[in-house]
Amino acid sequence: MPITVLPVTGLPLIQRGDDLPSLITDRVHVENGDILCIASSVYSKSKGYTRMLADITPGDRAVRIGKRTGEDPRFLQAVLDASTDVLLEYPFILSEVAGGHIGVRAGVDQSNIDDGKVILLPPDSMKAAAEVRQRILDITGNTSGVIITDTVGRAFRRGQTGNAIGWSGIHAIRDFRGDKDLFGHVLKITEEAVVDEIAGFANYVMGESNNGVPAVLMKGCEPWSGHDDLYYRKEEDIMRRLLQEPPRKE
Ligand code: GDP
Ligand code: MN
Ligand code: MN
Repeated sequence: MPITVLPVTGLPLIQRGDDLPSLITDRVHVENGDILCIASSVYSKSKGYTRMLADITPGDRAVRIGKRTGEDPRFLQAVLDASTDVLLEYPFILSEVAGGHIGVRAGVDQSNIDDGKVILLPPDSMKAAAEVRQRILDITGNTSGVIITDTVGRAFRRGQTGNAIGWSGIHAIRDFRGDKDLFGHVLKITEEAVVDEIAGFANYVMGESNNGVPAVLMKGCEPWSGHDDLYYRKEEDIMRRLLQEPPRKE
């Protein structure tokens, strides 16, 4: 069966209080087994997870980082407030947010929002995905998978890609361990981060600027089995250890 990828077009500029799942189901037919990808930026706008820069008083750390990076210390304070652990301060803040996702500037965005405001990642992206999935079920009677996406930078390669920061109704990882390859060798390591692969393609369809496509529906993805341990535990994360040990600040 071919996989169909449908951009959800015609959505308005999302405001706090908007019922995003219902705006989406007004425009696309969500069926059992579909996977709906939603940009975290619009989910956050619909819930009011935004801040006015004018309301933020930067602390010493934000001011100190801002002197080096040239960024607005109020923006940096919003980033620090959204962070549960800072891995790097310079040349950009790299930090963990609640739930375990690690991202540049804690995923705080200044694009696709009115001047003087920033968009925060949802405080609990897993809960956000579960809530959207339940709302879709209530409206349509159909069970879909839901992925909350964000555009993220990567280590080792230029260019951003979409990642899943929350998901529901599907497993994050398709586990190939124990499967045999074409030559009968048993796979020992391969765990495929399917939610990120799907989020990556959805992000490609969304675009980053003025496309106005914050949601993408995928039909025909074969179900997979696996697990949800997408994030390394702190003690097994080699890159994190290298970043944090010892010169955490320059
Ligand atoms: P992020 O990847 O979650 O940070 O979101 P982006 O800012 O990159 O936006 C992803 C897509 O959603 C782009 O096509 C934007 O033009 C679109 N978008 C962002 N906000 C809105 C909105 O309020 N309404 C509509 N219709 N599209 C939006
Ligand atoms: Mn973003
Ligand atoms: Mn984006």
